[in-house]
Amino acid sequence: MSTENQVCITTNCTAFAKLQCPTCLKLGIQGSYFCSQNCFKGFWDTHKVLHKKSRSSEIKATSYNPWPYYTFSGSLRPFPQTPRRKVPQAIPRPDYADDPNGFPYSEQKLRGSTNIRVLNDEEIEGMRVACKLAREVLEEGVKAADVGVTTDEIDRIIHEACVDWECYPSPLNYHGFPKSCCTSVNEVICHGIPDLRPLQTGDICNIDVTVYHRNFHGDLNETLLIGEVSPSAKNLVKTTWECLQKAIEIVKPGVKYRECGGIIQKHAQSQGYSVVRSYCGHGIHQLFHTTPSVPHYAKNKAIGIMKPGHTFTIEPMISEGTWKDEQWPDSWTAVTADGKLSAQFEETLLVTETGVELLTRRRTNEGQPYFMEN
Ligand SMILES: [Zn+2]
Ligand SMILES: [Zn+2]
Repeated sequence: MSTENQVCITTNCTAFAKLQCPTCLKLGIQGSYFCSQNCFKGFWDTHKVLHKKSRSSEIKATSYNPWPYYTFSGSLRPFPQTPRRKVPQAIPRPDYADDPNGFPYSEQKLRGSTNIRVLNDEEIEGMRVACKLAREVLEEGVKAADVGVTTDEIDRIIHEACVDWECYPSPLNYHGFPKSCCTSVNEVICHGIPDLRPLQTGDICNIDVTVYHRNFHGDLNETLLIGEVSPSAKNLVKTTWECLQKAIEIVKPGVKYRECGGIIQKHAQSQGYSVVRSYCGHGIHQLFHTTPSVPHYAKNKAIGIMKPGHTFTIEPMISEGTWKDEQWPDSWTAVTADGKLSAQFEETLLVTETGVELLTRRRTNEGQPYFMEN
């Protein structure tokens, strides 16, 4: 990966940057780039706090706990996060990217509407391109994921791949989300924030990528096996992938969106697993999340019938134990309420005249999911 796309980490500076902070390099903190000695000196007082944080977390990695009064449901713990990464101003961005609260005004305007947009040919072509790029970007992150690699490093690679492809990483600043992708490890169901925790052998790790390219969002995720993973965890990951495949198979004009959930829950339950209810698939095009809502559980009351030109995601989250979720005090990380594992797969789909087009499909290795290559 070229380093030409690095942007200075100084607040309000968007210049390209090639100088790396020498202390960060020694400490193994990635992504601390500055455009000039001036910015390096000017930002020093703010930046040096990160060195202290990282040193203390190195000595007592397990003692880093930002929420002493919170009882964790499982054994995963948060690790320190690196500063926010920046996207060069030359890359077009969605409305929430520069809002202080990351508020998506264009999505809000349509909230409560049950109308599902039918895209025209030009818009469909825009979705094809964005979704293809989203897959390329995910693939870069997947190649990097391994024992000892931090989820922050995966985020850095995904961020840089986005910039290389002239994409804005859609999660960045969406409702204030601090990173460019979601990394959800073990009991994390979704929306995990990349941090300085190195992946461990036996982990399962979901990487969720959405890119915004020329006005359109493309969204997909896969769960990976890290090192030697137990047969039971592998079976959860495999079953979750199968749930998504079975739901995709029924997509065609005339099918009700609410039918996807029954298919998914039936297969999950056949293996003794449960379906997460708090998070759903969603319409996606010029907006990141919009109508329809696509629940993954049976007997849901979702509104809408599939029509040619609809674009949406299916993204089942399947848990080993309870379907119930709770949130870490960071107000993002969704974990299983019993601390058992949860896995997820997601694709962005287009309803065609005769069926479905998998816009985010993998074009290498005959479309195999990555976990089958471990
Ligand atoms: Zn996603
Ligand atoms: Zn999604």
